[in-house]
Amino acid sequence: TVPLIRAEHLSVRYRRARGGDILACRDLTLTVQAEETVALVGESGSGKSTIGKTFVRLIEPSAGHLWFRDRDVAHLAGSALMDYHRAAQMIFQDPFSSLNPWHTVAHHIRRPLARLQHLRGSAAEAEIDRLLEQVNLTPTGQFRDKYPHELSGGQRQRVAIARALAANPVFIAADEPISMLDVSLRADVLRLLESLQTRHALSFLYITHDLASARYLAHRIAVVYGGSLIELAEAGELVEHPAHPYTRLLLAASPGSPMTGALPETEQSAPDLSPMRSGCPFAPRCPHVMDRCREVMPDWTPAAPEHDVACHLHA
Ligand code: ATP
Ligand code: SF4
Ligand code: MG
Repeated sequence: TVPLIRAEHLSVRYRRARGGDILACRDLTLTVQAEETVALVGESGSGKSTIGKTFVRLIEPSAGHLWFRDRDVAHLAGSALMDYHRAAQMIFQDPFSSLNPWHTVAHHIRRPLARLQHLRGSAAEAEIDRLLEQVNLTPTGQFRDKYPHELSGGQRQRVAIARALAANPVFIAADEPISMLDVSLRADVLRLLESLQTRHALSFLYITHDLASARYLAHRIAVVYGGSLIELAEAGELVEHPAHPYTRLLLAASPGSPMTGALPETEQSAPDLSPMRSGCPFAPRCPHVMDRCREVMPDWTPAAPEHDVACHLHA
């Protein structure tokens, strides 16, 4: 069957006036199936948000394809892009800055209903109530007219989720949706995402620093380093049999308890995102580095069935 979304050799280049251009996403090939959650894990600056925004086409890729079912949406514009935004939505890390402080809860949801679903008037108001119920902001009458500053972080994130659902999407990129919430609220929001997945037959790209929450929520985990996908496997397999030296480092540093772990920012310099980079992105930090690692980008190799890794140790 045709996957829901397939990035094929996708790259995103940021042009910068100073310091040269960077490739924040490099030659990424990754599929998300219908009703699947794929976690995107990697340290700060590895390109996770860039990939998420590109998957929902808030960013236009500089090379490669982005297939949505059988259509390449990589370079859509205008009304065709708006059609895609009906199908693909995003939830951001910071629910405070992603909501407009001057607008009520109901207003945040009313807008996408009008713009993307052409719902207005009493039909829209009924849909707002339905969406607030689905994200457990009940009784809805208590929340409709509130402003973001009157809500807790967890409640704000639920509004952001309701707003994403207002488009009636089949795919949501959730960019660290729990990392700014109190630890005590994180599991609730993850459970909400899980129940919404079943109810709406949603697919998620779940972006996180945290392998424990990735393992909890995702069917497969994709590890990125320096803008490159370096390992991809079913969630349990990846956590139990990590093949890439970087993934092993991540796991060694990840505390056992769920939803608390953050990746260590090592003392070494950030990965090189220059378009001129050659070889393995992890070579400057890898304990197993060999001569060819610095020159040749490792091919994508199976480490086990349904488990692929880009590392010369496995070639
Ligand atoms: P974090 O975990 O901190 O959110 P991330 O994995 O989401 O990081 P990105 O935000 O995708 O990483 O950034 C990847 C790289 O691209 C970083 O070096 C970042 O500084 C750079 N970058 C991101 N957005 C832009 C932009 N609009 N223009 C130029 N460079 C950018
Ligand atoms: Fe380390 Fe070489 Fe494997 Fe890269 S390819 S992770 S440098 S062993
Ligand atoms: Mg980010």
